[in-house]
Amino acid sequence: MSFEIKDRDILGRIGKLKTRSGTVETPSLLPVVNPLEQPIPPREMLSRFKCKILMTNSYIIKKHFPEEAIKQGVHGLLNYEGVIATDSGGYQVLIYGDVDVSQEEIIDFQEAIRPDIAVILDHPTGWGASHEKAAWTVDITNRRAEEAINKIQNSPILWVGPVQGGEHLDLIEHSAQKLGNMPFQIYALGSPTQVMERYLFKLLVDMIMTAKRNLPLNRAFHLFGAGHPFMFALAVSLGCDLFDSAAYALYARDGRYMLPYGTKKLEELSCLPCSCPVCRSHDAEDLKDMYSQDRLRLLAEHNLYVSMAEIDRVKQAIKEGMLWELLEVRCRSHPALSSALRALIQYKNDLEKGNPSFKGRGVFYYDSASLTRPEITRHEKRILQNYRPQLGVDTLLLLPAPKTKPFSSSPEAEEVITALKNVLGSDYSRLAICFYCPPFSIVPLELSETYPLSQYEAALPWDNETLDYTATQIEAFASKEWFSKVVLCDDPTVLGNRLQILHERLHQKPSARLITTSIGELSDSKAINKLAHILEELMHASSNRP
Ligand SMILES: [Zn+2]
Repeated sequence: MSFEIKDRDILGRIGKLKTRSGTVETPSLLPVVNPLEQPIPPREMLSRFKCKILMTNSYIIKKHFPEEAIKQGVHGLLNYEGVIATDSGGYQVLIYGDVDVSQEEIIDFQEAIRPDIAVILDHPTGWGASHEKAAWTVDITNRRAEEAINKIQNSPILWVGPVQGGEHLDLIEHSAQKLGNMPFQIYALGSPTQVMERYLFKLLVDMIMTAKRNLPLNRAFHLFGAGHPFMFALAVSLGCDLFDSAAYALYARDGRYMLPYGTKKLEELSCLPCSCPVCRSHDAEDLKDMYSQDRLRLLAEHNLYVSMAEIDRVKQAIKEGMLWELLEVRCRSHPALSSALRALIQYKNDLEKGNPSFKGRGVFYYDSASLTRPEITRHEKRILQNYRPQLGVDTLLLLPAPKTKPFSSSPEAEEVITALKNVLGSDYSRLAICFYCPPFSIVPLELSETYPLSQYEAALPWDNETLDYTATQIEAFASKEWFSKVVLCDDPTVLGNRLQILHERLHQKPSARLITTSIGELSDSKAINKLAHILEELMHASSNRP
């Protein structure tokens, strides 16, 4: 296997991709190098920018330097010792409609110039294609993949199977299912460039997730033409491992200055808000006044520094278990990215499945967008699907959460537990004690020290969606069949009038015997004693029933 996963966070992973020129750590950005025009020489990309992998175009090489490339290999031609991926001319198909080369010729040529990674001759769908046209591009690409597979199966090159379908999710699904059954070493998703340029990040999320759900998860996944650093955190969180992009150079040609949170026109800048070597040795005015070739080179260098640094930031976040935090920060940089973040709730079960169960550090909760965090989904499953109270338990006591964590060892909880044990005696063992609070909603006493229930920090006050979610979870939990009696201790400062509504709804359930008692502060000993006696009466009455 050429791809090994070393670490995970959400669906993002740190991987090792083994190629014949060496191993690269993913996620990785592959800057696209045009063999005819290189604002930054590939050799410098490796030495100055730590770009250990790049992408170039075998179709252009075949047109312009066929003999030199075969003689020296693509590494010799570009004077670059890192890992090289070659595209096939699919991009030219997208721009010009067709190319004057057959798939067999371009596969043979790529084998002859000896890259580490190569792409079959796909037919990219592009943006705005009708369903019929898009289906046709998928069929051509799938047919070519079938034709190519025998030829490339035992190649030392890692061959890429490109999923197509444009913005048509049913076609992406079909394409991914077909390709996923073929032994490609790497899978890719085509056509995201225009989707990103139009800021349709919600659609991009749907496209990536549709492809990923239908492909083998143990292979590297490449997002074609995805080069703006402000979406790396989002794409990696969904399981993208490789990005190729000419954006650093194309943006530079256009006078555009990339930042991890967006793009500025050079003319708009009076300062250079970046710590890269270019920006620390020039002023904005210097750059504006330069000859265009010099400006192009320096802007391309800055853009590449920013892009490489963002990839490192994403990797570090995965290693620390902080990818969600980085994702939220990045998605605040544009409303379209924020919408995409909110739309992730639709995929919360997918995101939870890939996430490691323990990252050793606390969870930050900002607002209801954080409800999609895998830790919240995992806890929801634990409580609503997997939790079983101990044998003999028939009464649920819902207490407002104490002020300190872990809840079970807070002074308030200890006082309540002591009072309940004293008053209830052996009936205490019939009691399931749970704390309620946003955002994890229900925290059973015995689980309150487990990760992440005592290791989270939240921004206050809670927003309405978070409170609604919490109330819904409490209702679902309190309605479980194993509780014949539910005692809900009201603390209106936690959920406001939602508890009143919850109380009314729980009362409508025939099996539930619900008592709501206002306890206010858990530290009030009078209220605690009153609660213990309410429970005593309730449990005693039910144990005496015939
Ligand atoms: Zn810079």
